[in-house]
Amino acid sequence: MSVANILYDDLVKEIDKLQEDDHFSEDGRWEVVPPPIIEHVPPFNVYMDPDPDVLEKEHPRQGGKPLLGVYYPMRSPGKIVLFRNNLHAFFWSLFSIAFHQGVSITKKDMRAGLWLVILQTYSHEKFHYYCDVLHKLFGGEYVALKDEAFAVAWSRLRILRDRKDKRTSISNMDSKIFELIIDHAYRFTSPGYRDWVKYKDEGLFKKGFGCYINPPNYDFLQQSNVLIDDLLLGMMEKINPGFDEAIG
Ligand SMILES: [Zn+2]
Repeated sequence: MSVANILYDDLVKEIDKLQEDDHFSEDGRWEVVPPPIIEHVPPFNVYMDPDPDVLEKEHPRQGGKPLLGVYYPMRSPGKIVLFRNNLHAFFWSLFSIAFHQGVSITKKDMRAGLWLVILQTYSHEKFHYYCDVLHKLFGGEYVALKDEAFAVAWSRLRILRDRKDKRTSISNMDSKIFELIIDHAYRFTSPGYRDWVKYKDEGLFKKGFGCYINPPNYDFLQQSNVLIDDLLLGMMEKINPGFDEAIG
């Protein structure tokens, strides 16, 4: 089981314990009574201004802006850490917006929203790992702010894929809540992170990603009708999760 699943199983217990109101929402589901925690969490934008989260050395961070996760590049296997308390607070800060707007919220939507928030950071960190592998393979150069822009864009595309896949909990989220959460969860303001909009759809992402990985003979292969951008994206999606991972 991945750390994302372990963290979900831990934090979902809090949702399961929430009280429900004695009336149904429009589509016949029980609404959650706004819990007291929504008055005590920091505003969501505290988490929208992070510094690059690819760190060379594994040591306790002193001060700095709060991070939701981190990736330690390969010496031996790379390592992903998800920060439990920050992800927990970020989740509640996003849902506090929905509660304050008086949106009807069910436990089912909250559970899916929790998974969305964890998946956002987990797929972001996995992207850093994929790039680490491809740069080692092709000799490309890690560029911190570009890596962040692509990691943010990738995580959003990953969530949008789940939204379309009817087998996922994210696809069954109420539209109003899904839009509200994903809108606020991507309002990044820090350099690099905020540039995800340059790669916001699959086409823009694929093209930009190919240029960033820039394998030998990239231009030649492209000019010779090899679909090199598709090839690189396909490779990335086939990289096995050979990283170590932990909850911090
Ligand atoms: Zn990052």
